[in-house]
Parts: sequence; C-alpha cells; structure tokens
Amino acid sequence: MNSNVKHIHFCVGHLLVTVTLLFARSASAESAVIFDNRGAVLGASGQPFTIFPFYVGAGWGSITPPSAAVRAHQAYLTNLAAFTSGTFVPPGIQPFIKQYRVVAGASVGPAAGDTTAPPRLLGSEDIKTIITNAQAKPPTDIGHLPPYASNVLIMVFPSTTFTPGPDVCAGGLTSGSYHCNAGPNKFFGVVFGSDTATGASDVNQVVSHEVFEAATDPGFPGNLAWDNLGPPNVEVCDSNLNPTFGYNGIKIWQCFDNSLGGQQTTTGYDPPIAFDPVSFLYPTIYPLF
Ligand SMILES: [Zn+2]
Repeated sequence: MNSNVKHIHFCVGHLLVTVTLLFARSASAESAVIFDNRGAVLGASGQPFTIFPFYVGAGWGSITPPSAAVRAHQAYLTNLAAFTSGTFVPPGIQPFIKQYRVVAGASVGPAAGDTTAPPRLLGSEDIKTIITNAQAKPPTDIGHLPPYASNVLIMVFPSTTFTPGPDVCAGGLTSGSYHCNAGPNKFFGVVFGSDTATGASDVNQVVSHEVFEAATDPGFPGNLAWDNLGPPNVEVCDSNLNPTFGYNGIKIWQCFDNSLGGQQTTTGYDPPIAFDPVSFLYPTIYPLF
C-alpha cells in the first residue's frame, strides 16, 4: 500500500471504511495505469501460488481447533484464491488479476501460527525472524511454515495487541499492512489487527489488497514487476478510495485495472460483468446447492 494509506487504515480502519462506503456513490473512481517492469510475479510460472497464513498472538484464540477468527480468515483466503483462480467464472471472462501475468491461480495452505507469542512491536525484520523460526519447526508442529519458494506467499497476521514497527521495504515507514521480500523468491505480506472477524465477510479487505499486490509485485522494492516506478510508488491496489466487489461472501478491494485505462475495477472481471457465485446464479458453471 501507499504508506499514507496504510497508516490511515491502521489508525481509523473501520471509520475509514464506513466513510468511504457513505461517499462511494458520489466520489469518482481513481485511476492509475501500472507498468510492467518484468519482475517476478506469483502464478506466472504455470503453477498456482500458495498462500500460507501464520496467525500470531493470543487474540486469535486457538488454531486447532480453529477459533471463529481463524476460520473466518481461512474462509476469506480460500475465497480470494478461488477468485484469483477464476473458479466458477463464465466463459470468455477472466479475473482482472490475470492481465498482470498472475495466470495460474492460487491455493491456500493450512492454518499455522503461534498464539503464545507475547504482544510487542513488530517491524518487517521481526516478521522475517518469525517466519524463519517457523520454517525451522517440524511439519507436524502447528507453528510450522514451509520454505520460501517462487510460488509461495507467506501471510503473517499479528493480532490486535501487537504494534506495527518499521517496514524496511518502505524505507522504514510504519504501517499496519504491507508486503515485502526477504530476498529473491522469498515473499511475504503482513496485516495487523484483523483477529476480530467473526465471519469471512468481516475480514478487512486490506487482506485482498496485500495479497494482490504481493502477487503482482512480490519482489518490491528490489525487483519490480507491476509498479508505476514512482515516487510516489503506486502498485495495483494503491487507491485512496477502497470500494469493494463481492465474491462468494467476501469483500475484495477494487484495484486498478489497466484494461479499463487504469480505472478501479468495479466487478473484478474483464470484460466487466456483475458476477458473483452467490448473487449471480450461472446454472451451468455455478454448482447450485
Ligand atoms: Zn498497497
């Protein structure tokens, strides 16, 4: 995210969302065409990328069995991956994300994490340490993460009692959500304070923002893929306006869509079509139940 946007989100997250929704109809959409700088992109290899979530702090309750907040995030990520993969999409339509070389879709790994970690300030270097420590644990451990790889995106979710520290990728700025890399083919994202969700529809759409930006520009800032080269740095979801489109009960950020001249996508699809597996029944594609 743009650092100012990120900071605002963290400070007044729900207020901002509420205000934005109130004014969404009268505010004109933003636009930004994002350039292809030919850096690494997730899902471009022909293999789907996998999102591995890691829940940190007591606010998450329990991982096994999963608390409501953990279940909500797993459901959110599963639906986000299904959207990215074009699941249930009508013929001739593709998710907007595919124009950015994210062609192979996504899947989601099992819930993992550490609910005993004491609250503290966490900067991007601390997040990297948390990931490295988790990668050293045996696969049977609930605190295990797989190794980094070109098709792996690790998403760390510190609970509300943690304080965001400096993000070295953004030059040391502090933000409540961002994505970064720990070296070539070592991709991760962070969203603080989203452990209050009771259902997938409650999960902050900032999660989709970071997953899409991590997918389209995972090497930021050293190996740019889709990025306007700034300053200010603008990536595919860095709009100040954050209306959402719906997909199977979740809210997804309306990111910039180059095929629409850089306007924010309104439906999530190219060409734009109002399609939601829940609200738009498409009998031959959508499994009715
Ligand atoms: Zn962003």
